[in-house]
Amino acid sequence: MFQDSTAAMDPRMRVADILREPLVIQGVGSRAEQEQRVAGLLDAVGLPRGAVHRYPHEFSGGQRQRLGLARALTLSPDLVVADEPVSALDVSVQAQILNLMRDLQREHGLTYLFISHDLAVVRHLADTVGVMYLGKLVEAGPAEKVYAQPLHPYTRGLLETVNLADPGAVSTVGRAPLRGEAPSAAKPPSGCRFRTRCPLAQDVCATTEPPVSTPNGEGHQVACHFPLAAPRLASAR
Ligand code: SF4
Repeated sequence: MFQDSTAAMDPRMRVADILREPLVIQGVGSRAEQEQRVAGLLDAVGLPRGAVHRYPHEFSGGQRQRLGLARALTLSPDLVVADEPVSALDVSVQAQILNLMRDLQREHGLTYLFISHDLAVVRHLADTVGVMYLGKLVEAGPAEKVYAQPLHPYTRGLLETVNLADPGAVSTVGRAPLRGEAPSAAKPPSGCRFRTRCPLAQDVCATTEPPVSTPNGEGHQVACHFPLAAPRLASAR
């Protein structure tokens, strides 16, 4: 699933052909079976079967994202990569698409790799969260743990910036809002890539890339020289 559902579909193809194309390329089923599969996919994502005769531009953004989900499911995958799939949609439509994704996940046993800048959306959907900065994973773990007890200053900074419906669920330990602009990913800082924006940075952060550790127990990983030490370091400055 792509962020820009318009650019993700050939404007000259009707929905019937868009959804059937993966089956044609993979040589799955007869034409009649393929058309039956397309009808089933439209049912699954809540679009009328008559949609097969229409072109992508004849749909709203939310409907096009439903088509994107249908196309992603055409070949019955185990894994769907969804790259910012709802960021271009209104909040109410976002909720519809996210709920649909969750329903289909349960129904088809799907795994989503959901890429987003919206931490409230990630929290709504994810079991496991990975936080990336300049192309590197800086923290990863069960969503509950990452949101309740973020270990990396970047994660903590991100959580400071979102207006979560339940602010009490986010730890206030070591709160440190993000500052400055992100440097170029093509020429990242030495040592820890986050050090130019980190309020907790020490000398070692400039010379040594932080190793991955699990100070909060197995499964909750962080790449930082000083995880969980934020309050002490902050007050020492
Ligand atoms: S390694 Fe140092 S600069 Fe990087 S996040 Fe941790 S404290 Fe900040």
